[in-house]
Amino acid sequence: MSPNIDEKVEPIFKEVLDRNPGEIEFHQAVREVLESLGPVLVKHPEFADHKIIERICEPERQIIFRVPWVDDNGIVQINRGFRVEFNSALGPYKGGMRFHPSVYLGIVKFLGFEQIFKNALTGLPIGGGKGGSDFDPKGKSESEVMRFCQSFMTELYRHIGEHTDVPAGDIGVGGREIGYLFGQYKRITNRWEAGVLTGKGLDWGGSLVRTEATGYGAAFFVDEMLKVRKDSFDGKTCIVSGSGNVSIYTMEKITQLGGKTVACSDSNGYIYDEKGIDLDLVKQIKEIERRRISVYTDTHKHAKYIAKGNIWEIPCQVAMPSATQNEINGKDAALLVKNGCIAIGEGANMPTTPEGVKVFLEAGIAYGPGKAANAGGVATSALEMQQNASRDSWTFEYTEDRLRQIMQNIHKNCYETADEYGTPGNYVNGANIAGFIKVAKAMVAFGVI
Ligand code: NDP
Repeated sequence: MSPNIDEKVEPIFKEVLDRNPGEIEFHQAVREVLESLGPVLVKHPEFADHKIIERICEPERQIIFRVPWVDDNGIVQINRGFRVEFNSALGPYKGGMRFHPSVYLGIVKFLGFEQIFKNALTGLPIGGGKGGSDFDPKGKSESEVMRFCQSFMTELYRHIGEHTDVPAGDIGVGGREIGYLFGQYKRITNRWEAGVLTGKGLDWGGSLVRTEATGYGAAFFVDEMLKVRKDSFDGKTCIVSGSGNVSIYTMEKITQLGGKTVACSDSNGYIYDEKGIDLDLVKQIKEIERRRISVYTDTHKHAKYIAKGNIWEIPCQVAMPSATQNEINGKDAALLVKNGCIAIGEGANMPTTPEGVKVFLEAGIAYGPGKAANAGGVATSALEMQQNASRDSWTFEYTEDRLRQIMQNIHKNCYETADEYGTPGNYVNGANIAGFIKVAKAMVAFGVI
């Protein structure tokens, strides 16, 4: 249990723990939101009367299915697929799919729960959901990935649709996987229904800026937090963990805004390049060759590769965790603060443990939690849906401008809400409360459903 949960909310949290045993990441995500909600019930007693918190913690629908496929050696493999349709108060369920061996129901539920509030913060008409599989795309051939995606969609197709549930990518699911999934959906349903998935290729219904959106959006969010402190990225030394989609485009935007990223990583180790990470090389290694980040030093001898090292030991002014959940613990957070870090922008979902969050908040540094800072990805997915619905495609400049405005609005909303609820500068409270109130009001309007 948490000492920070209001006594009116505590029994609800206990019920969540009892009803969802063993789902530790889900417990962590729920706890973090519920810690912010005590003061909301004081201002809005109707939310308690309507049991909004109890209802929001229970997914509307959870789908778990078998995904059988045949590998290149002719051997049958079996994975497990998930789609958790968490909340559709504000629009069709929307959220990515993660293919990673660590995926189980507790991970999908934590991500789906976060997604409800994140999507509400974008101001766009999207509900929250998430899905995925314990399939590991690493080391698989192209045709194995294709067969897996086809089998996955052969079950998933009956649950999704442009007005029902619109999946996208996440860890292990990028443009290649979305292509195979979309192809199979089209084949089974006999419908060319662009709005059923986002993150599509540019030649077949995708949106410019979607690939860059999460990373660009996270950097825009940090830029806003720095502006409040009369500061900017200019001349700042930055660390960005991961070297996947979010990490790459976070680094790109940091450079454009005048900062310098000196380290990035993958799950085997990290690269430290004091001249600044060569992003063209990272894109070549990761997006084209699909190799490990360690090969960076093959051509860049001056850089260092540290296997199994802790990237947060490197002194920096801005840190942007962009790999996975719980990658910054309390000790890492304390080290970052001690080494002079003034801003954290979470590209990943829940990358900081509760102990780490506490350190950042107590130190009073600018801390942008994932559900606010990384909302640019899903926001641009919603812009992709808008373009699909109007059979239109927008320019890069226009779409990026929309993304920037959305991130500025999210920042403003979180900042002002934190202030209104008596915790100025606390973006955790700001994001949780602003996101929750929007969903809660819609749920009250709909009655008990
Ligand atoms: P990618 O698969 O493109 O990249 C993930 C990166 O993180 C890789 O470098 C990977 O290294 C590393 N990583 C993954 N799992 C672990 C782990 N358990 N330990 C250490 N490193 C790990 O995923 P994305 O960039 O899309 O996603 C990164 C984060 O951003 C996730 O938390 C995701 O939920 C979040 N996010 C993504 C959005 C999107 O639009 N894609 C939107 C909002 C949030 P390796 O290759 O070695 O596994």
